[in-house]
Amino acid sequence: MAVRERIASAAVRCGKDPSVVQLMAVTKTHPRSIVQTAMEAGIRLFGENRVQEAEEKYVGLQGDFDLHLVGHLQRNKARAAMRLFHCVQSIDRLETAQALNTKCAENGKVMDILLEVNTSGEQTKSGFRSREGLFSSLEPILDLPCLRLRGLMTVGPFSNEPEVVRSAFSRLASHFHEMVSHYALPAFDILSMGMSGDFETAVEEGSTLVRIGTALFGPR
Ligand SMILES: *Cc1c(COP(=O)(O)O)cnc(C)c1O
Repeated sequence: MAVRERIASAAVRCGKDPSVVQLMAVTKTHPRSIVQTAMEAGIRLFGENRVQEAEEKYVGLQGDFDLHLVGHLQRNKARAAMRLFHCVQSIDRLETAQALNTKCAENGKVMDILLEVNTSGEQTKSGFRSREGLFSSLEPILDLPCLRLRGLMTVGPFSNEPEVVRSAFSRLASHFHEMVSHYALPAFDILSMGMSGDFETAVEEGSTLVRIGTALFGPR
């Protein structure tokens, strides 16, 4: 598959092992049949950005796969998210984490989460906006017993300038490494960055999970 080859050469270019980069297929707006096609091609990790769309598409789907939420989670959707997803990548405030933790506790479940960071400064994007906000939420989130913090996520800037995109990814990677060195984080191993337009740059900057829609399935 062309995307896998491009991931591999980006990794090799900067001396990284390509097998550390997971490929997620983002299936938003596409039908359930495309999920089945992707599974036949060996993809085991899927992403959706809306709870309701994910419910309609994935409930009852057979197969060995993980599904992550990559779009904003409203607190009133926490129960549905707890049921549907293996991981919520888009935790952008403490209150959302608390709501999800409560639903997990009620159901005896432990869930993976990532914290989303707004590295672009664009108002339309979600995620923690400041370093202070991110780091001050970290300890209370780590104390939530039913959530397992696995790493960080960002959506890169809309920019034609490669250096602007690269510096956003490099900032996320540096938050990640700072957290690893200052906190006891037992399973902190996911740096989710890179989409169709910028995943090679993201891999060069240390991404371990790229979220790809268009480059796999064509335009939405
Ligand atoms: C849609 C989406 C993607 C995939 O975008 P493409 O540019 O089509 O690869 C990745 N991450 C998030 C959060 C998305 O909403």
